[in-house]
Amino acid sequence: MRKKILFATGNEGKMREIRMIMEDMDVELLSMKEAGISPDIVEDGTTFEENALIKARAVAEHTSGGEIVLADDSGLEIDYLNKEPGIYSARYMGEDTSYRVKNAELIRRLTGVPKEKRTARFVCAVAAVVPSADGEKKELVVRGTIEGYIGWEERGSNGFGYDPIFYVEEYGCSTAQLDSEVKNRISHRGNALRLMKERLASLI
Ligand code: IMP
Repeated sequence: MRKKILFATGNEGKMREIRMIMEDMDVELLSMKEAGISPDIVEDGTTFEENALIKARAVAEHTSGGEIVLADDSGLEIDYLNKEPGIYSARYMGEDTSYRVKNAELIRRLTGVPKEKRTARFVCAVAAVVPSADGEKKELVVRGTIEGYIGWEERGSNGFGYDPIFYVEEYGCSTAQLDSEVKNRISHRGNALRLMKERLASLI
């Protein structure tokens, strides 16, 4: 029987991305919605890795036990701001505050800061809870990043969140100006998912 992988997200965009990356694996990939699971998860970890594991474990508790459960946690680290907003990226200035406002505030906080001190990265941790033959569950966590810097203005309308202010040197534009295929190829989430795929391939 084909192995099932359940990805702990309600986000359709992330599901599309993971389907693209995992398409050459001989597995059945399900979203939480498709699996009919929607647990309440308190993300109270202190790192991206801890939060990804918290999500994966919480969803694994709700499964029949045969599935591999994957979960991710991601965010933006700005070096000049002591790596803020970091694990609080979604909650920065309040969950309901628009990214227009959040992005404008981050640019304001970097007023007068020269380019070499505006370094930043998107980070993504992907965790897996993997059932094994002896009934024990194995846990794996990997991290992917993409390095860049915070620009002086918002540019582009692709992507989401902090993409319009996150610029990648190699492309000379923000990640909101890249098309989704290019972004997936270089992104923190793409890098973490590809790494996880390699790790899983040796286990299943
Ligand atoms: P979560 O991993 O779904 O909790 O996302 C955390 C937050 O980090 C998002 O709500 C965004 O604010 C930010 N973030 C994560 N990845 C990206 C990205 O690729 N582009 C822009 N913002 C991102």
